[in-house]
Amino acid sequence: MIKKVDVQIRPNCEDDVEPALISVENALDTIVAMIQPVLEIELVPVREALGRILAKDLLSPVNVPNHTNAAMDGYAVRASDLLQHGLTVIGTAWAGRPFEGSIKQGQCVRIMTGSVMPEHSDTVVMQEQVEKIDDMIYLAPGQRPGQHVRYAGEDLATGSIALSGKQRLFPAELGITASLGISELPVLKKPRVAFFSTGDELRSIAEPLAIGEVYDSNRYTLHGMLVRAGVELIDYGVVPDDPALLQETFERASANADLVITSAGASVGDADYVHQILKKIGEVGFWKIAMKPGRPLSVGKIGPAIFFGLPGNPVSVMVTFYQFVLPALRKLSGEKNISSFRCTARVTNRLKKKPGRAEFQRGVLSLSDDGALTVKNTGEQGSGILSSMNRANCFIVLPTDSEGANVGDIVTVEPFPGLI
Ligand code: AMP
Ligand code: MG
Repeated sequence: MIKKVDVQIRPNCEDDVEPALISVENALDTIVAMIQPVLEIELVPVREALGRILAKDLLSPVNVPNHTNAAMDGYAVRASDLLQHGLTVIGTAWAGRPFEGSIKQGQCVRIMTGSVMPEHSDTVVMQEQVEKIDDMIYLAPGQRPGQHVRYAGEDLATGSIALSGKQRLFPAELGITASLGISELPVLKKPRVAFFSTGDELRSIAEPLAIGEVYDSNRYTLHGMLVRAGVELIDYGVVPDDPALLQETFERASANADLVITSAGASVGDADYVHQILKKIGEVGFWKIAMKPGRPLSVGKIGPAIFFGLPGNPVSVMVTFYQFVLPALRKLSGEKNISSFRCTARVTNRLKKKPGRAEFQRGVLSLSDDGALTVKNTGEQGSGILSSMNRANCFIVLPTDSEGANVGDIVTVEPFPGLI
């Protein structure tokens, strides 16, 4: 069942605290519980698997590395010879061209990194630790038996789980797959996400702007966030506040997509049609969430499609997307891990906040000279100030009860993606 919260008054992002707000955590739990992951599997070439969700555990069909080999350039010796005074060099082992013979007592083989260890050798002495005179080498003291050797299967043993099912595939996973000699991976089908902007004041970027009109920027941030989320996109453009057109677009979008996102018109009164239509054709709750920015949010279903009606203000769109839609998309995509990474940092400017709503302030996270993570906010935190997202590299997450933070306090931060 979808939680429905009746709204008595017109909510506005800048209002003070009022009762009947849902907490961010409750809202997220309800959203996640509504979603059934996509289960269809397709086979794709390794490179195309980047960013996709692996459908099932990938077992290693081979040992990686496939032979015990040298981890350093140097000499392959027998551990029992480490205290010998002088060893005879009887040949060379190259990466890809093993030394064919075996090593007897008092002998060694010149060896390059990655070369197969010659028979009866078990230790590598780095070339820097050796004095070579003609075909004899003399070892520096302090060598350890078995040093600088990589064992067959030490990275991945035959039959072991190389990659876990339901994980997202990043560059390392493509490399691991290739290291196993595998050319295709079973991945889950991408969910389809339809989105559009609503509002009579919206203009497309190629059009001139009259007084009171704004360019539709939300569809561009949404485009970016959805591409990064790895879903298939259907962009329905800008739909004016026209009941017939809106209903038609909602119906088309929900018939063609697993999830539908709109921005704006989530405030009662401003776009009454949206609510009337959603009531008529779907099961959609209008939520007031105890958060800032991004309080009004519609969540529910239109037929089998999940529906998110995000707020209109540009920062609210991004905050509600990252806090609610992204975890929903991860679950829908079949991904095991649906939460974003968070850590803590020391505050370097005062963060103002009233208790009653969780806040997602835009922050700049950096590493201070003493090695600790520090964070300051980007200044003015209005929900229309999209440049605050540009200046930020993290959200500062201040919980509902927080009364802000003083310089030196520790706060939770959610870094924007780092290495990708
Ligand atoms: P609303 O939720 O419709 O009341 O909109 C809240 C604010 O967001 C208003 O200032 C709108 O003009 C603005 N807004 C709504 N949609 C967009 C959009 N697609 N791009 C940029 N700003 C928008
Ligand atoms: Mg509007």
